[in-house]
Amino acid sequence: MIRISQLANSVKPSATIAAGTKARQLKAAGVKVFDFSLGEPDFDTPKHICAAAEKAAAGGQTHYTPTAGTAEVKAAIANWYKSFHGLDCGPENVIVSNGAKQSLHNALAATVGPGDEVIIPTPYWVSYSDLVSMTGATPVLVNATPANGFKMTPAQLRAAVTPKTRVLMLNSPCNPTGTVYSRDELESLVDAMDTTDAAILSDEIYEQLIYGTAKPTCVATLRPWLKDRTITVSGASKSYAMTGWRMGWAIAPAAVVKAMDTIQSQETSCPSSVSQAALVAALNGPQECVAEMRKEFAGRRELTVGLLNAISGVKIPAPEGAFYAFFDVSAYFGKTFGTTAVTDSLTFCGALLEQAHVNLVPGVAFGAEGFVRMSFATNRATIEAGLAKLKEWLATGS
Ligand code: PMP
Ligand code: GLU
Repeated sequence: MIRISQLANSVKPSATIAAGTKARQLKAAGVKVFDFSLGEPDFDTPKHICAAAEKAAAGGQTHYTPTAGTAEVKAAIANWYKSFHGLDCGPENVIVSNGAKQSLHNALAATVGPGDEVIIPTPYWVSYSDLVSMTGATPVLVNATPANGFKMTPAQLRAAVTPKTRVLMLNSPCNPTGTVYSRDELESLVDAMDTTDAAILSDEIYEQLIYGTAKPTCVATLRPWLKDRTITVSGASKSYAMTGWRMGWAIAPAAVVKAMDTIQSQETSCPSSVSQAALVAALNGPQECVAEMRKEFAGRRELTVGLLNAISGVKIPAPEGAFYAFFDVSAYFGKTFGTTAVTDSLTFCGALLEQAHVNLVPGVAFGAEGFVRMSFATNRATIEAGLAKLKEWLATGS
């Protein structure tokens, strides 16, 4: 028997990936599933982006590239940040990886280890705490409450800082809550860190998916000193519907990029050459596709929030960004559905999938028991039918 390592045994499987896999298996077995689990746009990648990849492959861009990405892709990223946020960065500040998940992992691996602490506001995206634990560092969770719009306050942050704090993770717009911090709120948070020398790891992957009057903020631009202290992570999966291409990146001080480059050189050599060509087209090409997808997500958000608020015991404000509804279902805990006693978000989601074939992700995976997450990055017919099914099923609890 081959012994499994302590590292592998200590990592929890990603709850979002697990929920997506479960839905795929049920669909393969012929079950009609109302799947709201994975945060993945249902749109195909825009045609001009695919065409650039086809051209690159046909033209021989099929070899290893520099570890941190081609000069073209780094320039496209740097130009994008200059024009959208006024952020100046050179090629030595940019590294492209196989998805923002790898960028986050490498950023953490490059900056923390055993004995270090990483502050993470909850609810947090499922992978944050395990990615931190995989480095040997300790996640320090700060409970951002629904009463405060799931926003961590500067006082909470100050109370969590210790001499061991090495990194603060921020994620606005937030997965799973859709919370968008204002510029002022982010300024207050980063100012609470200025007595430390900790890095700020800002995951801004949903910055182009914001609705209403909320605005995106590039944390690195908030204060002059932040340029040397911030690692910005983002990617093409959400804004350009490019999940399968695995394109993520980090913008950071040159020494951090160098450390991430060294790790990546041993880990995956480089990101996919063809995907990099696609990313150049996404960032340099027409941006109307992003606006069109955002408009459609905005409509689905209205639909989702309206239907959820018509369900007894559920109350949710419209999320300001991303494409998730994160709502409290604890009013249903303590009830029995079919033969299942629902006691927490895990048993709730398990029974809901089994009995009504509606697939949500339990809040406990995001550090928020009592809640569930629904991705509305799916078509309106599925949202309408799936939420009707959810409403009907909830009424069967006794
Ligand atoms: N950060 C957040 C907040 C996410 O929701 C996701 C999910 N896709 C990622 C990072 C990773 O994205 P990817 O690896 O597809 O670029
Ligand atoms: N980030 C998406 C989600 O939260 C995709 C799955 C994943 O990368 O974990 O569902």
